[in-house]
Amino acid sequence: MSRAPDIHALRELLRSCVECGLCLPTCATWAATGNEVLSPRGRLVLMHELLAGDPGPDAGALESFDRCLGCRACETACPSGVPFSLFEYGKDLAARARREGTLTVTRSPAPGWLLRRLDRPVVLRGLKALAPLAALAPRPLARMARSLPAAPERDRDLLALLDGLTGSRTGDVQPAAKAGSAAIGIDFFAGCANAGLLPASSRRLIDLLQRSGCTVRIPAGQACCGALAAHTGRPGDRARRHGQNRRAFGQGETARWIVVEAAGCGVELKEQYDFGPGEVLDATEALARLTLPPLRPVPLRVAYHAACHLEHGQKVTDPPRALLRAIADLELVEPEEAALCCGSGGVWSLEHPDLAAEIGRRKARALLETGAQLIVTTNPGCLGQIKGALAELGADLPILPLTDLVWYAGLGPDL
Ligand code: SF4
Ligand code: SF4
Repeated sequence: MSRAPDIHALRELLRSCVECGLCLPTCATWAATGNEVLSPRGRLVLMHELLAGDPGPDAGALESFDRCLGCRACETACPSGVPFSLFEYGKDLAARARREGTLTVTRSPAPGWLLRRLDRPVVLRGLKALAPLAALAPRPLARMARSLPAAPERDRDLLALLDGLTGSRTGDVQPAAKAGSAAIGIDFFAGCANAGLLPASSRRLIDLLQRSGCTVRIPAGQACCGALAAHTGRPGDRARRHGQNRRAFGQGETARWIVVEAAGCGVELKEQYDFGPGEVLDATEALARLTLPPLRPVPLRVAYHAACHLEHGQKVTDPPRALLRAIADLELVEPEEAALCCGSGGVWSLEHPDLAAEIGRRKARALLETGAQLIVTTNPGCLGQIKGALAELGADLPILPLTDLVWYAGLGPDL
């Protein structure tokens, strides 16, 4: 929430909760603890206290909002339309209290100064370079290193991985099943986590967009979307990032797409920016609108992990699944409790390492139970969190950006 909250409007919104509890089973913090105070319904009760404002926010209420992942699964589940924006007010207060040191929190494996710099690709690249040493570090640091998002950097390594899973690259390519949009100009939003940790996957996505007829440019001077500054209670830094990106992407005169890979960045760009005639699209939305290069069959059982910021934050549900269904011989499966967050939540997993690890293991077990040979997702945070949880369980199940798999299918049998 970048503007001052309208307390009267928030009180009105609070009235829409009928306390039915239908949101509880979709809340990861409630599922992991069974504690009503850590459920959406419990948080709405606490919101009454926060909005009373006198004698000031109660420490228990702040802690409950601090522990809210911001996944918005409760918003999707709620039949009364109670919006997540109610919780943003509580989360903003908690983030400020955390930064000012008035909220006692679990010790994070990453110091505050580092958390605040994770929106810089150069810092993320440094962490990635140090990750192999983390095996020797204390457990929380080692867990953090295991949870850094990763995908094969060299195309040949990605091909070897997927060829190994499928057996070989054979089969007749399928001509594009539909006539998609005409070729369009795309401004690519690089995103700090993708730029720092998954640059090869970004390059492959751009290749796929170009081979689908688009002209892609990466505007210079772009910055983090601002979500990290919001999560860490720094509204001034968030506003500065917004200003930087507005200058980099401009308002433009012509219709174009601003394509973003990370679901978390996508929410921030869609809700907090106005790019004039430019339309912000998640990468899967863009690809699903285009006529892709002919795809060849990929005989794999693939589990799709729906990132909360795409599924609940942006309400983008069909495009990623449609892309996977467009690949012949691919069996798409989804885990039990699919609506539950994986426990990433941007830097939330670093601020709440023990709860995040527990939620992550629950998600990893559900994904393993699908019998999938590969997991795909659309958010770097989810990718890293699930990768780390699988490693903790000793499971050797690969996880990749969904667009890496589509890129592989679009290569054709002879490449
Ligand atoms: S589902 Fe909606 S109405 Fe029911 S308890 Fe949750 S927030 Fe309230
Ligand atoms: S946003 Fe997520 S973690 Fe927070 S109350 Fe809703 S379901 Fe629970």
